[in-house]
Amino acid sequence: MTVPTTAIPRPGSEQLQSRVRDLSGQNVFACYQCGRCTATCPFSLNPQQVLRRVQLGQVAEAAELETTWRCASCFSCVVACPKGVDPPRVMQALRIMATSGELGRKHSKTHRLRSRLIAMNHRTAKIGSALAPASNWALSLPGAAVVSELVLGIHRSRRMPEFARTSFAAWFSLHAPAGDGHRGPVLLFLDTYMDYNFPAIGMAATELLERAGFAVSLAGNVCCGRPMISKGFLAEAAEQARLNVERLAGAATENVPIVGCEPSCLLTFHREYPSLVGTEELRKAAEALAPKVVLIDAFLDSLLQAGELELAFDRAKSGGRPVILHGHCHQKVFSSPAAGLRLLREAGFDADVTNASCCGMAGSFGYEKENYELSEKAIERGVLPALREWPEAEVVVMGVSCRQQIDHFTDRRPKHLVEALRDVLMDVP
Ligand code: SF4
Ligand code: SF4
Repeated sequence: MTVPTTAIPRPGSEQLQSRVRDLSGQNVFACYQCGRCTATCPFSLNPQQVLRRVQLGQVAEAAELETTWRCASCFSCVVACPKGVDPPRVMQALRIMATSGELGRKHSKTHRLRSRLIAMNHRTAKIGSALAPASNWALSLPGAAVVSELVLGIHRSRRMPEFARTSFAAWFSLHAPAGDGHRGPVLLFLDTYMDYNFPAIGMAATELLERAGFAVSLAGNVCCGRPMISKGFLAEAAEQARLNVERLAGAATENVPIVGCEPSCLLTFHREYPSLVGTEELRKAAEALAPKVVLIDAFLDSLLQAGELELAFDRAKSGGRPVILHGHCHQKVFSSPAAGLRLLREAGFDADVTNASCCGMAGSFGYEKENYELSEKAIERGVLPALREWPEAEVVVMGVSCRQQIDHFTDRRPKHLVEALRDVLMDVP
C-alpha cells in the first residue's frame, strides 16, 4: 500500500501528534522514511508506514494499520533505525489511544482475557506451580488445547511450558553454596520462568556464579513488568518498576552486581524504567540502576576479558563439540550475543552464532492464534536455515521464548547458555 504524501491533516491532528509524542517519547519527525525498519521486520510488517501516517497527522489511520496491532515488539527495527527512532513505542502509544477511545471509537482488536493473563503471568505461573503436577495434567488433557484456543485465543498447536512443583526460590533457600564466596556478593535476578517453569536454569546460574567465587543471593525483585508493557498495562508495569527500583537501588549504590538470565526482563530495566517510574527522583535512581543490571553472559565475559574468570572447564566434556548460539532480539538491543560466544569457546566448544533475526515467538506473540502463521514464517526466514547449517550442533539460546519456538518447530532441544556452560565444568574433587 502506498502512503499518500500530500494528504491534508485532519482537524486536531496536531494535538493527536502531541499525544503520540507524549505517550511514546518519540519525535516522529526524526524519521526520514529510509525504510530500513520495514526492510528489517522479521514479520514483514511496515513500521515505516505507521511513522508516515503519524507524520502526516493521520493518527487514527495509523492506529488502523495492521502493523500497529501485530507488532511483536522484537525491536529489530529499533536496532536498524539510523535516526534512533523507536517504532514499537509509537505503535504502543497508538494502541493505548485506540483502546481508550481517544481516536473516536474504542477498538476491540485485543483479546482482553488473554492479554490480562499474559500480563499477569507472574501470578498465574505461581498458582500453576503451586498446583503442579495437577496443573500440568489439566493442561495436557485431550481437548485442553482446543478450549484454550476458543477461550483464550492461544493457538491449539502450542503447548504452554510445564510448571515446576518446586520453585527455584524454594530450591535456592535450601541449597548448599558451591563455593566460599571469596569474590564478594552477587544478586541473582529471579524471573518468572526461572522460578516457576525452568528452575534448572536458576540452579545452573547459581552453580556457575558460586564456582566462579561469588556469594549469590536472590535479588528480591518483583516481576520486571515486561509482559504488562507488551499488553498495554502500563500503570501496573509502572508499579513493578517503582518496586524494583526501590528494592535494588541500594545494591546498585554499593556496586553489588545484579545478574539475570532472561534478556527481556533486563531490557525492561534499561529501556523502560527511567520513563516509567513517574518521579524525577526515581528516574535518576532507575538510570543509575540500569548499568548495574547485567546479563549473566556479559558478567562472566567481563571477568574472562579481564583474565579473572575463576571457572575451570573440562575440555574432555566439551571437546570441540559443535554449538550454535542464537541471540535473543532484546539481548541485541542492550547487550550482545558475542559475550556468550566467547564463553562457549573458552569452555572448549566449537561454537558459532547465528546471523538470524527474530525467531518469531517474541514473548507471547507466537502463541496467539492470529499470529501463528506470521510466527512460523519468521522462524522459517531466519533461525531455521541457520540451524540446518549446523545439523549436529547443540542449540544454545538465552531467551525463553526463542527456546520455546525452536522446541516447537524443530526436533532440537535448546539449552540456556548457563546450562551449557555448567554441564562442562570440571568435576569437583
Ligand atoms: S528506519 Fe527509522 S528513519 Fe528509517 S523509516 Fe524506519 S523509523 Fe524512519
Ligand atoms: S518491533 Fe519487530 S515486529 Fe514490530 S515493527 Fe519492529 S521489527 Fe516489526
